[in-house]
Amino acid sequence: MFPRVILKGTMIKKSQQKKRTSPSNYKERFFVLDTQDLKYSERRPGKKPMLKGCIELSRIKCVEMVCSDSPIPCSYKYPFQIFHDSHYLYIFAPDNDTRQRWVRALKEETKNNNLVTKYHTNFWMDGKWRCCQQTEKLAAGCHIYDPVCYASKKPLPQLPDPEREVQELGQRMVIALQDHKPLGDDDLPLQKDQEYVLINSSRPDWWIIEDDQGNTGFVPSIYVAEKSGKNFERFVWYNKNITRGEAEELLMKEGKEGAFMVRDSRQAGVYTVSVFTKAPGSNGEKNPRVKHYQIRQREEKEPAFYLAEKYLFSTIPELIHYHQHNAAGLITRLRHPISQGGGFSQDIADLSKEEWEVDPDELTLGQEIGSGQFGLVLEGRWREMKVAVKMIREQCMSDEEFKEEARIMMRLSHCKLVQLYGVCTQRSPMCLVFELMKNGCLSNYLRTKKGHLSQDLMLRMCLDVTEGMAYLESSNFIHRDLGARNCLVSENNEVKVSDFGMTRFVLDDQYTSSQCSKFPVKWSAPEVIRYSKYSSKSDVWSFGVLMWEVYSEGRLPYENRSNGEVVESLNAGLRLLKPRLAPDAVYLLMEWCWKERPDDRPSFAALFYELNSLLTCEPK
Ligand code: ADP
Repeated sequence: MFPRVILKGTMIKKSQQKKRTSPSNYKERFFVLDTQDLKYSERRPGKKPMLKGCIELSRIKCVEMVCSDSPIPCSYKYPFQIFHDSHYLYIFAPDNDTRQRWVRALKEETKNNNLVTKYHTNFWMDGKWRCCQQTEKLAAGCHIYDPVCYASKKPLPQLPDPEREVQELGQRMVIALQDHKPLGDDDLPLQKDQEYVLINSSRPDWWIIEDDQGNTGFVPSIYVAEKSGKNFERFVWYNKNITRGEAEELLMKEGKEGAFMVRDSRQAGVYTVSVFTKAPGSNGEKNPRVKHYQIRQREEKEPAFYLAEKYLFSTIPELIHYHQHNAAGLITRLRHPISQGGGFSQDIADLSKEEWEVDPDELTLGQEIGSGQFGLVLEGRWREMKVAVKMIREQCMSDEEFKEEARIMMRLSHCKLVQLYGVCTQRSPMCLVFELMKNGCLSNYLRTKKGHLSQDLMLRMCLDVTEGMAYLESSNFIHRDLGARNCLVSENNEVKVSDFGMTRFVLDDQYTSSQCSKFPVKWSAPEVIRYSKYSSKSDVWSFGVLMWEVYSEGRLPYENRSNGEVVESLNAGLRLLKPRLAPDAVYLLMEWCWKERPDDRPSFAALFYELNSLLTCEPK
C-alpha cells in the first residue's frame, strides 16, 4: 500500500552538523510528511526535484517547537526540532500556524515510538545547549516531553478554528507591560503585570490573548511580553545586527538625553542596552556620551533579567518598560527608543491612532501591476516590505463604510489570505496597502500555465483556497465574490484568497445587483441570485466554480452563455460539466458544492479535509 501524504510545504532546514567542524547552513527544502517518512527535497525552477533526505518516522524520538531568543539567521523565523537516531534536525517554518501544524502532525505520527522523556527547549549552539548549558550534545533534555500535548486534542488535518487554537497555544503565556483600555468590542483590556494566554500571534501588531475568565480579544502586541522572554524583535528599541560602534554613532547623532536601543552583545545570546546621556562626568563637566549596560540573566527556576541587580524581570521587554520610567541605577532613564532603520518608530502612543492608517511618508509607489474594479494597482514599498497598493478611483467605493470595516479586515490574518496591511486616507486617491503576490491573479496564472499544470499543483491550489476560506468561515466572515479572479498567486505558487468582503463597498450598480451585467452570476449560488442571501455556504457554491476554473486551466465557466441562460439552466437542475482534467473524486466535490439547498453543501472545513485526503504520495 502507498503511504498516505499528510503534509507538504516549503520550509528552511538547518544543516545537521554531523561533524563538529562542518559549518552550519540554512537551505530551503520542500518537505513531505507521509505515514512512513519525512522526506525533503531540493526544488529549483526548471529542474527535477532532488531528494535530499528521508527520515523514517519510526526513528523519531522527539518533535517539539524550539523556544529561542537568539536572532534567527534565515528568513523563516519559527523553529522546531526533530530528534532522530542521534541527530537533531532544526526546521524553520514561515509562520507559527505552519509550525504548529507540522509539530502536531509529526507528534501524532510518532506518539507510539520509543520517545525521550525529556527534551531540550532551546537550540544546541556553539557547543552547548542554550536551555540548560550542558555541553554534551546527547545529554538528556531538561524539560518534560509531552508526546501528545497537541495531537490528542483533535484529529488531523488541522483546520483553522479559533476555539482549538486556545487549547493548542495554551502553553504560551504573555505578561501585560501596562494597562490598556479596549478601543473596540473585539479588544481585550489589559492589566499591568497580569498574565494571559497567547492564542494567536500571526499578525505583527495585534495579538489575540485570553484572560483568566476565558475572555478573548485583541491587544497591541507591544503592550505584552512573552513570558518565555523570547520574541522581542517587534519592539522598536531592539536593533538586530548593529555593532557597538554603529550604535554609538546613531545615538550620538540623535543627541537626545535618554536615547537608547537594545542590541546583541558580541557574546551570543546576551543583549546590551546602549543609552545616550549628557549627564556631567566625574569631573562635573557636561560630557555627551553613550553608555552600554549588559543585560544580565540569572538562571533560577525561571529566567530573571536585570540591568541593576535589585530590579529583576522575567522578560526583557518588562525590564525595558520599567527602565523607561525609572532610571533605577542607570545614568538616565530610557526615554527615546531609537531604531536603525530610522523613520519607523512604533511608539506606544501611535496605537491610539486609527490602527489601519498608513503614513503616506512611509509609502513609496512603483510601477503598475494591474487594474480592477476600484482602479489601478501599483507595486510599492512600505516599511521595508514590497507591497501592492490599490489606488481607489473616486466615486468607486463607499469610503466611510469601508474605513469602518477596515479594522476587522486587517485583523483577519491567515497564511492563505492576502493580508491587508492598512489604508492611506491622507492621500488622494485613497489607497489600500496589501501583501504583494508576485504571480498575480489565479485566473491569469492558470491560463498562462495551460498544458503545464500537474494534478498535484491543481489539487494544492484548491486546498490552499479551502484553507483560507475555512479560516474566514470560522471567523464568520463571508467573502461574497469568490472566484479565481479574486485569488492571487505568490512567488512560490501558493494561492491566497483576496478581496474578501470588498463587494460591499462597490458603488457601481452594474456590479451589485444580480440583474446587472457585471454581477458574477456564473459564480453565484441560486439563493444569492434570487434573494441576495449570502452565507459561507454561498461562498462554498462559488468555490465549486473556482475548482472548475482550476481544472479547466482558467477557462470561463459557461463560456458562450448569457447570465440569463445560466440562471435558466441552473433552475432546471443543470450544472457545469466535469472538466477533462478533473478526477472523479474532485468532480464529486464540485457537485457537492452545487447542491440546491445551502445546508446540503459541505463546509470549507469539510472540503479541506476531503481535498487533503486526495493528495497522493509525490512521485520521486
Ligand atoms: P479590484 O479589487 O479593484 O477589482 P483586483 O483585486 O482585481 O482589483 O486587482 C486587479 C489586478 O491587480 C489583479 O488581477 C492582479 O493582477 C493585480 N493585483 C491586485 N492585488 C494584488 C496583490 N496583492 N499583489 C499582486 N498583484 C495584485
